[in-house]
Amino acid sequence: MEVRVINRDEDSLTLELSEVNLSLANALRRHAINEVPVMAVEEVLVMDNSSVVSNEVLVHRISLIPFVTDLDNYRLPEECDCNNRLGCERCVVRFSLKASAVDEVVTVYSRDMVLESGTGIVRPVSGDFPIVKLAPGQTIELELYVRLGKGSKHAKWQSGIVTVYDSESGGKRLYIESFGFLSPERIITEAAKALERRVRDLGSAIEEVIKDG
Ligand SMILES: [Zn+2]
Repeated sequence: MEVRVINRDEDSLTLELSEVNLSLANALRRHAINEVPVMAVEEVLVMDNSSVVSNEVLVHRISLIPFVTDLDNYRLPEECDCNNRLGCERCVVRFSLKASAVDEVVTVYSRDMVLESGTGIVRPVSGDFPIVKLAPGQTIELELYVRLGKGSKHAKWQSGIVTVYDSESGGKRLYIESFGFLSPERIITEAAKALERRVRDLGSAIEEVIKDG
């Protein structure tokens, strides 16, 4: 089995895999999309919202913003031992978002989120996502809970776009385009680890059945 880097640019990586069949390349692709945990806003407390946008629309819009993900210092909420619905410092990063318009219309952007607790690594992928426009006299005040999640649970936690295609030399090419949560290299190595874990779990389950039988 041989892996070669064919192309690397800012957000994407193309790898050539020799002696890898389509089903294995596809399994890797599916794990990259569905099983690599990345960070997004999972819960929003709305303290104040006098904008014309409803709470539901505001929350939905915020939840689609990708966050630079700190995989080394955070755990999935379901794998954290805090058993706290609001989470702990190992499974949640908190931001606040407060804005008011006084004399003129104000556009609130992702860059206006203020880190309340968590590592400085975690932040919106871009500060330029518009969230809401406020007319004079309008205010929003929100608390945002950013958590790790997987694409298999909700598309907002999908790490990127991953495709498999045949290369001219008969091998498989894997194209990984990151949405900015993680580097494409990290996405594909985490996908391989997730696939490995799954195969190992399956192996253990088979062993159990054989032992019991
Ligand atoms: Zn926790």
